[in-house]
Amino acid sequence: MSSVSVPFYVNFFEFDNHVDINKKTDYQNCINDDQDSTIICQNCETSITANQYKINRDRRHKHTFNNPLGEHYTIGCFSYAQNTLSIGKPTEEWTWFTGYTWTICVCANCDSHLGWYFDKSQEQSFFGFILDQLKS
Ligand SMILES: [Zn+2]
Repeated sequence: MSSVSVPFYVNFFEFDNHVDINKKTDYQNCINDDQDSTIICQNCETSITANQYKINRDRRHKHTFNNPLGEHYTIGCFSYAQNTLSIGKPTEEWTWFTGYTWTICVCANCDSHLGWYFDKSQEQSFFGFILDQLKS
């Protein structure tokens, strides 16, 4: 018996823009802080994620990175988000997490840049949200 792998990310390649990436992943790695408080878009207050979906990647929830333009970002890793859209095709270029592709992730309501969606496999995919772009 061989297992069949489902090409979960096939939808990413159908259009270049605005692909709905709402999904739940990675329950096992959720940081259980017993808080279910919603985290919202800083700009328009649309519900995006929640404390219960905070996860660690490379042993930390919070990461600080520079992009090739020298811009500085502090991101938090989350296993689940809603009301977000991904922009563009997944790429590994300049990725901050080895082996993961990324797409830009924006608020579906106001188009604010919230962060990035990092994809490797359905179990390991996650959102890296710019913490300054969100509030509780
Ligand atoms: Zn928004």
